[in-house]
Amino acid sequence: MPRRKKGIVTLAFDDAYLDTYKHAIKYLDKLNIKSTIAVPASFIGKRFENRRLAGLEELKDNLKRGHEIASHTLTHPNLSRLSLKDKNEMISEIVESKKELEGLLHNKVNSFVFPYINKNQLGRGGLNLPYLLKARPYYKSARFTADSPYFNKIPVKNPYSIIGFAIMKKHSLSYLKKQVDYAEKKKCWLIMVFHLVGEKNTESFHRPKPYRFFMHIDVFRELIDYILSKDIMLLTQKDAVKNSS
Ligand SMILES: [Zn+2]
Repeated sequence: MPRRKKGIVTLAFDDAYLDTYKHAIKYLDKLNIKSTIAVPASFIGKRFENRRLAGLEELKDNLKRGHEIASHTLTHPNLSRLSLKDKNEMISEIVESKKELEGLLHNKVNSFVFPYINKNQLGRGGLNLPYLLKARPYYKSARFTADSPYFNKIPVKNPYSIIGFAIMKKHSLSYLKKQVDYAEKKKCWLIMVFHLVGEKNTESFHRPKPYRFFMHIDVFRELIDYILSKDIMLLTQKDAVKNSS
């Protein structure tokens, strides 16, 4: 029986910060909502950009509760800055991270998430093909990240060039609600990418300023409650690709 077409929201947590686990992901668990958590495999339980990442126990707990763990490379390099002669490094970041995560978690890793905002590749209207080709044999989908809202079409034409929207503290709750409204109305797929969600922000690793990719947990809760009030599906990256292709 054909499914009625509906919009989709994916909640994605890039970098798997421990604070985000404690606050945001635990809140989702109470509501039985599943998210996609993108982990740089070499930093599990360690510090990354001066913030602690979730450890293996937390990631296993996420899996048990139905969240998806996606690969976010091994060491979080900016792959778009690697030159062709770093090809082996690039392949290892994409391929070895999957093996590493699958070995640690005893669970299949289906989705890949490219690190950093991929402004340049996306801006020219095309994605950087060599990277896509590298990920294709190993993953069922690969996601890039933009710094403005992006609405992926359903059905998804190319699951290796889906795009997420990196939410920053400058984005107001009412602005974010409008993006959800749009995805509902146009029946498209909005991937909301969070980084640090908690009670307190931290200093940015790259500049002497507060971290730009922070959201207070109270705002996050309000946003989730709003999404739940809409006629829209909340799916992981893996399930959204399955559902909409
Ligand atoms: Zn990242």
